[in-house]
Amino acid sequence: MHEMAIAMNILDIVERTAQENRAAAVKDIFLEVGALAGVMIPALEFNLDIAKRNTRAWEAGIHIQQIEGRGRCPACGETFPMDFYIEPCPRCEGSFLSMVAGNELRVREIEVERN
Ligand SMILES: [Zn+2]
Repeated sequence: MHEMAIAMNILDIVERTAQENRAAAVKDIFLEVGALAGVMIPALEFNLDIAKRNTRAWEAGIHIQQIEGRGRCPACGETFPMDFYIEPCPRCEGSFLSMVAGNELRVREIEVERN
């Protein structure tokens, strides 16, 4: 399952960061997920809950900020909100669009408890 692999990857990063900071526990995890990253947020939350059980983040709150997708049309230069990859330009109907935002998937911040 795709979201499980992502959840494990996120917790790997969180664990490593907690270890480097000699943290006893992770209290909060802040994530950024782009609307076009191909991640189902409810599925990701569900898998994070399972994956964090044997880590220092077992009690951590998960906070996910969704980043809106934005596209840019190279033909006319227009930028606009984008919900899908394949969507024509709302201004000139051009169909070769580049994504300028929305495929983020990153750990923005973690809050830890030291012992
Ligand atoms: Zn255009």
